[in-house]
Amino acid sequence: MSNQYQGYQINKTEAGQSCELKQLGDDDLMEGDVTVEVEYSTLNYKDGLALTGKAPVVRSFPLTPGIDFSGTVTSSLNSRFKVGDKVILNGFGVGEVHSGGYAQKARVKGEWLVSLPDGIDSRQAMAIGTAGYTAMLCVLALEQHGIKPDSGDILVTGASGGVGSVAVAILNKLGYRVVAVTGRMEEKDYLLGLGAADVIDRADFSGKPRPLYKELWAGAIDVAGGNTLANVLSQIKQGGAVAACGLAESMELPTSVAPFILRGVTLYGIDSVMASLEKREQAWARLARDLDLELLEQLSFDLDFADLPQAAEDILAGKIRGRAIVKIPQLSISPD
Ligand code: NDP
Repeated sequence: MSNQYQGYQINKTEAGQSCELKQLGDDDLMEGDVTVEVEYSTLNYKDGLALTGKAPVVRSFPLTPGIDFSGTVTSSLNSRFKVGDKVILNGFGVGEVHSGGYAQKARVKGEWLVSLPDGIDSRQAMAIGTAGYTAMLCVLALEQHGIKPDSGDILVTGASGGVGSVAVAILNKLGYRVVAVTGRMEEKDYLLGLGAADVIDRADFSGKPRPLYKELWAGAIDVAGGNTLANVLSQIKQGGAVAACGLAESMELPTSVAPFILRGVTLYGIDSVMASLEKREQAWARLARDLDLELLEQLSFDLDFADLPQAAEDILAGKIRGRAIVKIPQLSISPD
């Protein structure tokens, strides 16, 4: 019994993909040099795709989903970590090809782990999760482009979602004037509460994009892709930039070269999954400094471990607001 733990497991048979919460054993842990007792995980859009099987996110079976976790090291053969260290994991194929955070235990490569930064606890780390860490990677791209608060307004699409909510909160704290785009105008007060100066309807960005439109935004963070991103690009000011990280609307990008060659606009692609350790540590240190933890609490909610399958459907339907925190039931037995 001592090596048993609880976790979700995705299996694939001829009948299709299925996901079950079940009793697992140490034999189910995958290769790695650090074992972690998972304390918290979260729910990202990609987790929704993995849990429901609506896109081929999971590519190794059987597998525990969950692209993020925070927890405590219980054994380590890696010189960077020792027993008792608090760690965070985001991406690196975890929850896709390597078992992830929706279980009481995970075994991973130490090189994928980041130490929990000072000022953030394990629960707050998962309120942030991949969505929040990606929002910070987007902010860093705009900053490195040279966009400053006095450069002009910054547009954030999919603002009520995970990446969008955290991006609005960070940009506001850094002194930028943020305009939030949402398909849920009923969330206007929520977005104003996170620090948006204005909230506009997603429908304004759904029409056929023109090559160029009025110059409105110094920069933008886009989670949608599709017509939304194409319309955003046509409205970026001379020399501005867009950090694009998502495809909540579409994988397509029906744009022209006009914004790039006539306005010198730059489109930055943001990939959180394979970002270097240096970039991750920079992003997490900035999150500890530049994200208002009271706002983080306001934009987060607790999601029961047992309710993950239903919440996965909800996130794909665009019904989840902000960030879900999933407390993983504590191991009642010796962790190793
Ligand atoms: P969420 O589901 O929490 O947020 C997505 C938001 O996008 C929704 O809440 C909604 O916001 C908006 N949206 C939904 N459908 C559409 C649509 N048809 N057109 C325009 N906007 C839409 O997901 P996350 O914030 O976790 O992720 C956002 C995107 O970023 C996803 O595509 C995800 O895969 C991607 N991502 C990429 C990462 C990377 O490394 N590149 C890392 C993390 C996420 P509202 O209702 O306010 O309009």
